[in-house]
Amino acid sequence: MKSVPSLSSLIVITLLSISCNTPTRDPFTRETTAMNTFVSVTIYDSDIEGARAHAAIDSALAEVHRIELMASDYSDTSEVGRINSHAGVESVSVSPELVSLIEKSLEYATKSAGAFDVTVGPLVKAWDFLADHPRVPDQKVIAQLLTLVGKQHVSINGDKVFLKRRGMRLDLGAIAKGYAADRSSGILKRLALKRFIVDIGGNLSVFWDGTRVLDSTVAEILIRHPRKDGEFFGSFMMGTGGVSTSGDYQRYFVHKGVRYHHILNPATGYPAQGVVAVTIVASDATTADALSTLVFVLGREHGMEFIRNAAGVEGMVVWESGDSLVHDLSPGFEKQFIRSND
Ligand code: AMP
Ligand code: MG
Repeated sequence: MKSVPSLSSLIVITLLSISCNTPTRDPFTRETTAMNTFVSVTIYDSDIEGARAHAAIDSALAEVHRIELMASDYSDTSEVGRINSHAGVESVSVSPELVSLIEKSLEYATKSAGAFDVTVGPLVKAWDFLADHPRVPDQKVIAQLLTLVGKQHVSINGDKVFLKRRGMRLDLGAIAKGYAADRSSGILKRLALKRFIVDIGGNLSVFWDGTRVLDSTVAEILIRHPRKDGEFFGSFMMGTGGVSTSGDYQRYFVHKGVRYHHILNPATGYPAQGVVAVTIVASDATTADALSTLVFVLGREHGMEFIRNAAGVEGMVVWESGDSLVHDLSPGFEKQFIRSND
């Protein structure tokens, strides 16, 4: 497994209020690393004893590891790894669960006219943002790799997935963390827990009994400032649902004054231009994760339009104008988001 990148969280949560008649106590929490990022599971139920809380956290973390083993593209033995290593050769039988996740990903490719595309794997590998000294790939290499990108080169037949061209790679990095957060959250729900948060690298699944997504009584989410380390860009309140931020400051390098970051435009093979960060709030973390990447690639105008047209989705797009940052909010988010003083 590759080294874990900086552990600084994009989003920090402050619990604000529990109901008046609930005795306050410290939540049960555990932090670890998985899926190449930091992971934390926190349980706020007040009527649970320590042993049960820790057993629940064990199960929630085991679920994250299970999904990592299924969906990571940097291991040849994961299901995705096996699909990739047989690209252009033969189809590979995988679990119905992975088939569904790939199908969902391909639907997002269709909905975004290819802006979100999990076949960007060969390009992600060429850019190698996690390398010690990442470099800009040769233009000719990028042009060649672009011929391996596109959902039309993927075929799914029952449980069999086939990448039609040799050298193709699926990369679920833009959706798998949100999915893992949802699944892990599902385990805690089945264990009858009522209040908890699973955070996988800033992709959060929040469950708070009886609350709705943009609920003003539960948790305060702080969005990291895209350009100032240790500072926050703004905050909002949320209840049960998913939230995710995609940014050009998460995995990047600067070469000759130009910032190259990990969210690629599948049309050009280069980092998507024009946007600095996107935050999405949705009913689940899978949607929030996929859409934060998708909207980032679509850019300011088309990205905002996408958010406005998506049912149950709210969000914010941030871009640079000279030395300052400008943001645009979807109507439902306008009432909630408070920008910090820059
Ligand atoms: P996120 O941090 O959720 O925005 O996901 C970014 C990650 O998704 C990158 O590190 C790549 O592994 C992958 N990726 C990059 N560009 C795209 C894209 N246009 N569509 C889908 N996945 C992408
Ligand atoms: Mg994403």
